[in-house]
Amino acid sequence: MNILEIQNCTICYQNGTPAVSDVSLSVSEGEIVSIVGESGSGKTTLIRAILGLLPPGGKVTGGSILFGGRDLVKMKEQEIQEIRGHDIAMIFQDVGAALDPIQKIKTQYSESIAVHEKKSAKEYFELAVSMLKKMHLTDTKRVMESYPFELSGGMKQRVGIAMGMTAQPKLLLADEPTSALDVTIQAQVVHEMKELRDRYGTTIILVTHNMGVASYLSDKIGVMCRSHLVEFGSRDEIIYHPKEQYTKDLLEAVPKLGGKRFAR
Ligand code: ADP
Repeated sequence: MNILEIQNCTICYQNGTPAVSDVSLSVSEGEIVSIVGESGSGKTTLIRAILGLLPPGGKVTGGSILFGGRDLVKMKEQEIQEIRGHDIAMIFQDVGAALDPIQKIKTQYSESIAVHEKKSAKEYFELAVSMLKKMHLTDTKRVMESYPFELSGGMKQRVGIAMGMTAQPKLLLADEPTSALDVTIQAQVVHEMKELRDRYGTTIILVTHNMGVASYLSDKIGVMCRSHLVEFGSRDEIIYHPKEQYTKDLLEAVPKLGGKRFAR
């Protein structure tokens, strides 16, 4: 069953030039889909539009985005707020920087948890602590008692990612969540995203410029080039049988490690 269907979606900013042109793609429940493509190709704009979080001046000018059959584009702000964080959560590129500077992490956690009623507060707290540990934040007690300024940038980012995951949304949107982290931690976070899907069936749409990450994580890959979705197919189709020269170039740019370019 498709959890999300984007149909002929066009998105423009003030200058009127489409940042996303006539994009259609569907995502099945429990699938991990990566959107790849060079900088400025429209990846972030597309993923932000799903939750109605376009920057000022950005507007969906055509098409629809159906979530469970309901068009998110036509929804009123109040309706979409009910979906945000609960059914669909988003992890931004700078999610760590977006933490509230004047509240302790534990307070922010309990507030984000209070929005969800699927589990008791205690169950959520335990889940939060285990999620922090999985993000390699071992001193969870200290992290929970800290204000954001007491944590490093990398730690804040991991707290933000953990928060998004603890909410256990049906659909998790992630925009380059790991690019600011060092490589070892990045690999761990990516692994945990896969675990989240395997364990809870969470559908994930990930924006990444990293083909290696896309190859490791994805069931399907969409390739964006200058506002168009130029290719969309299974991970193996895109990695081993790309049709577009643009996709071939992206794949060629990935360094080979031990003679192998792509791992699972
Ligand atoms: P990507 O995520 O692939 O790097 P973006 O979605 O950020 O691409 O950008 C797509 C296009 O939209 C680019 O041409 C970019 O300049 C434009 N754009 C992005 N954000 C804004 C904004 N806030 N205002 C105006 N134009 C924007």
